[in-house]
Amino acid sequence: MSCIIIGASHAGVQAAVNLRGQGYEGGITLISAEKVLPYQRPPLSKAFLQDTLPEQRLWLRPEAFYQQKHIDLKLNTRVTAINREQQTVVLENGDTLPYSQLILATGASVRRLNLPGSERKGIHYLRDHSDTSGIKAQLPDVTNVVVIGGGYIGLEAAASLNKMGKNVTVLVNTARPLQHLTSPVISDYLCRLHERNGVTIETNILATEITGGAHLDGVTCDNGKHYPADMVVAGIGVEPCTELAAMCGLAISNGVEVNGYMQTSDEHIYAIGDCANFHHAIYNKPLRIESVQNATDQAKTVAQAICNKASAYTALPWFWSDQYDAKLQIAGLSTGYDEVVVRQESDTSLAAFYFAKERLIAVDTINQPKSFMVARKHLPTLPNIDKTLLADPDVAVSDIFTGAEACLT
Ligand code: FAD
Repeated sequence: MSCIIIGASHAGVQAAVNLRGQGYEGGITLISAEKVLPYQRPPLSKAFLQDTLPEQRLWLRPEAFYQQKHIDLKLNTRVTAINREQQTVVLENGDTLPYSQLILATGASVRRLNLPGSERKGIHYLRDHSDTSGIKAQLPDVTNVVVIGGGYIGLEAAASLNKMGKNVTVLVNTARPLQHLTSPVISDYLCRLHERNGVTIETNILATEITGGAHLDGVTCDNGKHYPADMVVAGIGVEPCTELAAMCGLAISNGVEVNGYMQTSDEHIYAIGDCANFHHAIYNKPLRIESVQNATDQAKTVAQAICNKASAYTALPWFWSDQYDAKLQIAGLSTGYDEVVVRQESDTSLAAFYFAKERLIAVDTINQPKSFMVARKHLPTLPNIDKTLLADPDVAVSDIFTGAEACLT
């Protein structure tokens, strides 16, 4: 009996850990295309970029851990094919490895700019350890940075680079940052926060060319403006890594399709984390989620399934983002909301509660951890909550949820 895990990040490492935790006695091979020990990705745009987190604290587990748990960690090793009939994987060097169970934890890779000048030096992306290291290596020579993209990665990069003394402009191709991810009240708060710190946010704008010689000197946009830059950081989204799955004929649609036990269309192959598309039990729709929580919780589900203790995946999605002194915490998915209730506890503490057809479906909080914790606990039942009380900062949030009517049981 042997399990191969392709991808050694939040999902893959946790799957290996959980397999051992569930008593799996077969061989575990954990394969990573990256050269460094498996690491946490969130600090890449936050503390590790700002140089306030030393590299040793980035590692998910110390090197000795893998040996102690008899997990064969293969770094700098890429899987190039899966042979489903023979139940083997093929490595870049031509070696083949047999598996009884295979877990795809291949994650996602960044979308790249496709405009004139996209090949110039000084353009960076933010996904891997090597991306952040590349940015940090160039920073001493940088004064002006243009960030392309107003999602979480773009905003976090902007906040970090601003903290490091750079002049930062963020180009957002929608009417507001995080337009597809949060409500106007949260976008507005974050915009003001960035602007107070000296970051310029330009909205409804499209970068059309990266200008300069071999090294870039700026970004031209569709409004005719030119923004000087020594560095461009692009955060324009990711695509799930599904090539291996597609090549061997597994079902794919916005990720590798899996059932509630993370099993693909081949009973011996599972997929978890950023690369997996599953039917979400609470929101009753297919979803692919990009978060540490999702990767970690699906790793637990897959280990249970492989160890014959199957329990379907039902975890509530949650996520966080850090920008300056704002700790943004999100529970649930707000997509499809029809009403937002705002709870403002101070100038720097607010929460947006999202309702759809009178059910609470999600919450975004900024520096309001209590609201996050309480809502996160109750959200799996999509409760019916008194909105007037929710908006009143003088009423304790825990009291409001006590005895709330559950809509999903
Ligand atoms: P990934 O982390 O993408 O890892 C997949 C791994 O598989 C990679 O190492 C890749 O090299 C490897 N791989 C792929 N194909 C092969 C192959 N053929 N052979 C061998 N190896 C292969 N989430 C949060 O919840 N909160 C945050 O604050 C947050 N901040 C983030 C900040 C940044 C800068 C980034 C990039 C992400 C952030 N995320 C955050 C998202 C979170 O990191 C991801 O959701 C999480 O890393 C997904 O884990 P994963 O294991 O599914 O995939």
